Amino acid sequence: LEINLSPISHTEDEWAGILIVLHDITAVRRLERMRSEFVANVSHELKTPIAAVKGFAETLLAGALNDKETAKSFLQIIFDESERLNRLIGDILELSKIESKRIPLQFSPISLHSFVNNCLHVVQAEAKKKSIELEMQVDETMYIEADEDRLRQILINLLSNGINYTPEGGKVKVKVDQLAGDGDRAEDERIRFTISDTGIGIPKKDLPRIFERFYRVDKARSRSSGGTGLGLSIVKHLVELHKGTIRVESEVGMGSKFIIELPIIH
Ligand code: ADP
Repeated sequence: LEINLSPISHTEDEWAGILIVLHDITAVRRLERMRSEFVANVSHELKTPIAAVKGFAETLLAGALNDKETAKSFLQIIFDESERLNRLIGDILELSKIESKRIPLQFSPISLHSFVNNCLHVVQAEAKKKSIELEMQVDETMYIEADEDRLRQILINLLSNGINYTPEGGKVKVKVDQLAGDGDRAEDERIRFTISDTGIGIPKKDLPRIFERFYRVDKARSRSSGGTGLGLSIVKHLVELHKGTIRVESEVGMGSKFIIELPIIH
């Protein structure tokens, strides 16, 4: 708490009172701490792939090049880690753009049946590799006013996560419902997207933290599936830019459900 006292004079020799300003700086401090933690996290996340690229390149230069098989596997690692760096930097830039609200949304009416169908197409190859069944349940007439590219980003991110964290032969589903508002006003109507999977689930203790930047339940698993740990925080920000809400329900070994509600009309 910062306290400032300043006397207020009425006339030359008469005090009108004292002005006391109490300034709660905990919010400012918290923001500062979050920012420096983020910088530390970013550095750490970037250092890991760079160390791998550097280490394997060094080993190649030191002679491993002569063995063709070894060289090939090292080059593959260098390639994969460069891709990872690329994704990380892309996600970090995206997140900072969204957080500084430098992206104006372009709202337009979107027909949800074909839109969701389209999103499923994008992740179909990914699902097929793991024999994961994709399902959708959306009425033909449903629509929403939203930023189409951002809404696609939200859905594809959640679908990819569903596929990533679901073992072979599982199922990922998108369900869309229309919710009436409290009154009869059309402005209060909302669309609810439910993206559910039959995957590994998320432990109760981790649930409140999974929307934090770089938070992962299982670091090794996220890394091996190419995750950056930023997907869900980007999704949450995009949902909030649409004045919507996101929450998660999950049970270990049973699956997860991400529920998003957005106003129909902007
Ligand atoms: P990542 O790039 O690691 O997937 P995200 O921000 O998308 O990062 O998700 C954060 C963490 O939340 C993941 O590392 C994972 O532990 C957990 N998670 C996200 N989606 C799911 C899901 N559908 N099933 C189980 N765990 C999930």
